[in-house]
Amino acid sequence: MKRVYNFSAGPSVLPESVLRRAAEEMLDYQGSGQSVMEMSHRSKIYEGIICSAESSLREIMNIPDNYKVLFLQGGASSQFAMVPMNLMTGSNKADFVLTGQWATKAYREAERYGTANVVASSKDKNFTYIPELDPSAFTKDADYFHICLNNTIYGTRFTTLPQTGDIPLVADVSSCILSEPVDVSKFGLLYAGAQKNMAPAGLTVVIIREDLIGRAMDFTPTMFNYQTHADNGSMFNTPPCYSIYICMLVLDWLKNTIGGLEEMKKINEKKAGILYDFLDRSSMFRGTVVPKDRSLMNIPFVTGDGELDAKFVKEAAQHDFVNLKGHRTVGGMRASIYNAMPVEGVEKLVDFMKAFEKANG
Ligand SMILES: *Cc1c(COP(=O)(O)O)cnc(C)c1O
Repeated sequence: MKRVYNFSAGPSVLPESVLRRAAEEMLDYQGSGQSVMEMSHRSKIYEGIICSAESSLREIMNIPDNYKVLFLQGGASSQFAMVPMNLMTGSNKADFVLTGQWATKAYREAERYGTANVVASSKDKNFTYIPELDPSAFTKDADYFHICLNNTIYGTRFTTLPQTGDIPLVADVSSCILSEPVDVSKFGLLYAGAQKNMAPAGLTVVIIREDLIGRAMDFTPTMFNYQTHADNGSMFNTPPCYSIYICMLVLDWLKNTIGGLEEMKKINEKKAGILYDFLDRSSMFRGTVVPKDRSLMNIPFVTGDGELDAKFVKEAAQHDFVNLKGHRTVGGMRASIYNAMPVEGVEKLVDFMKAFEKANG
């Protein structure tokens, strides 16, 4: 068997111990004689899985009791519509900070349902920084304020949250959920496609303050109404059963092997530090993001020479460092180093980069 170091932005690397456990349990989940893929989502045994996933997530993220956890489908991209349909129902206005492609998509979709206001944007410099926010530009009666907490494509992240007062802060946390502690009580709603840091594709997690449920626009499809899923324990219809099961295993790993989000943060800071330190010293490679806004999860870098970038990506893959090609809007390379990427993977990547620099410098 061969395992590569996988730097994919998503779907992405999962903890090896999780995959092994899933493999062991594939044909017979805990004496049930069935795979989790085969069992009824209404069975007692499956109820144990979804309840365990929810309670582990609540424990690990310290989610307050007045928040619901929803296990949905449709990806983070469906949330771009679901959030406005459910929340943009007071003044019919919302504020957006444009820090990249995903944030912009969320804004564009919300524009279809109400007045979407751009508070700030970093498009002028290809989203290589997080813009300063001027609170006087915030809409006083907005129904919510939307940010993308970690910008997967450009490799930036918010290190301080916008001060929105009573206006609910809504964040796309697809590529940073579970990477470090967050104070959930500062948000009205958090959402994440699970395929970056939680589980395989197919599962979307929404953490929503209860008072924001039950306000949806009249035409909202039943499946797009948070109330539907909150009232039915994410079991209104068939949930993404197997992804939720893997999510449960990932959360067990986070809790019992890693020791929680404070520990996870230390490991993630160590990994990112190894790569950023090298980028700052290298005479061939450089990071593309202003240092103060650098992501812990997604690290874009370039040589400045497109041909050399391509050579690097190709040779890296030959050495089992895969999926390092950067997003087409940034070029160069991007190393996504989510929770499940071991420290050793980053150390070995840097060793390879040093050797490449020596051979091609
Ligand atoms: C990957 C990603 C998305 C898109 O997620 P889907 O689940 O594919 O819809 C949205 N936002 C961010 C920040 C992402 O990283």
